[in-house]
Amino acid sequence: MSIKLKYDRIWNFNAGPAAIPLPVLERVQQSWFNYGGTGMNVMEWSHRSKEYDEIHNDAVARVKRICGLDDSFHVLFLQGGASTQFAMIPMNFLDGGTADYIHTGAWSKKAIAEAKYFGTVNLAFDGEAVEFKRLPKPDELKLTPGAKYVHITSNNTIKGTEFFEFPQVDAPLVADMSSDILSHKVDFRQFALSYAGAQKNLGPSGVTLVILRDDFYKTAKNEGVPTMLKYGTHVEKNSLYNTPPTFGVYVLREVLAWVEENGGLEGMEKQNREKAELLYGFFAENSGYFKCPVEKGSESWMNVCFRLPSEELEAKMISESKAAGFSGMKGHRSVGGLRISMYNATPVDAIRDVIAFMTEFMKNNG
Ligand code: PMP
Repeated sequence: MSIKLKYDRIWNFNAGPAAIPLPVLERVQQSWFNYGGTGMNVMEWSHRSKEYDEIHNDAVARVKRICGLDDSFHVLFLQGGASTQFAMIPMNFLDGGTADYIHTGAWSKKAIAEAKYFGTVNLAFDGEAVEFKRLPKPDELKLTPGAKYVHITSNNTIKGTEFFEFPQVDAPLVADMSSDILSHKVDFRQFALSYAGAQKNLGPSGVTLVILRDDFYKTAKNEGVPTMLKYGTHVEKNSLYNTPPTFGVYVLREVLAWVEENGGLEGMEKQNREKAELLYGFFAENSGYFKCPVEKGSESWMNVCFRLPSEELEAKMISESKAAGFSGMKGHRSVGGLRISMYNATPVDAIRDVIAFMTEFMKNNG
């Protein structure tokens, strides 16, 4: 089969950095030499300029609007990736106490390792015991009374599991939403802090979005935390204490505008549900050939992991997928197999095309 896309682009199933909506790339291109009559590219502006301020504040306002948040939430654009949040959260909020961590994969493991520098970690759920094939049931969680917070990874990029309902807990709920933020309707007010590296659903790598509820923020430690790693520094200065990743924030603003133009969280959910039903439906119909390791009820809409009857066939499909015009179908090196990452910017057509490709592959390699 041969796929013909505008600008000779290919379908991008990379896990992150990942596809950016095409209209956003086009808009950015149009502003390349001269944004809005300023005679400069956005990345050439001062971060203290009125023009940048407008973009920055517009991005903050759009996050709040899309997520349904009022002024009791702080929206921050930081650097250092989600990985820096793994450390900043306990550095600011743990302070020698105990936090509950729900361990559901490689990313929660890294978050746990960082938290141990600053206090005690209680594993409220250890997914290792179920080989990370499913998420905890609510009655399986072993929570600590008086925990400083409960940390959860909303979508497990590598294992392909995703929470659609969040546990009801007494302690403040903190969520790593790096790989499913803005992909479906979620009540963001339930999170004391949520965060995401931008490079999957929000834009280019280099920006980390943090949404911080004021009541939780007020419990942050202020003494002995280095300036750049203290939430207070960034809250007080609207993420402009030092030079923010200005170009990344600009592209993120354009992605947020695209999300709003396409129906906000509801619009994203509709499209992502359709893609997931198509792809998991195809695997279920052909379950003698395609096997999904994740248990029903825990499947991610963003990262779909699957295996073929042999590793030889997997290698063949990965190689042929590249030639057919699909990028990023190799599973994470730690788990093997194949993975299709289909974030917001991946249209339903991409999934129809990859299903056609896999149908043909199965016929030729049955
Ligand atoms: N959490 C999750 C769920 C992720 O998928 C990733 C990156 N793939 C990270 C954290 C780490 O993000 P970063 O590279 O921005 O530090």
